[in-house]
Amino acid sequence: MTKWCETCDRPVEGEVCEVCGNPIGSPTPEPMPLRWKFFVVATAIYLVWRLYQLIVWLTH
Ligand SMILES: [Zn+2]
Repeated sequence: MTKWCETCDRPVEGEVCEVCGNPIGSPTPEPMPLRWKFFVVATAIYLVWRLYQLIVWLTH
């Protein structure tokens, strides 16, 4: 599994960076894509809107 050296900003094969000598801990987690964040927000807004409509429908 390829790890990432934050100091050199390059992939590292193994536990220690061969350029700067820093020990590499866990691989850098992938940042959440902006499109996925937008999808989650849109889904949340849609669900709140549907819930609002359900409440309006139930109370009438
Ligand atoms: Zn390095």
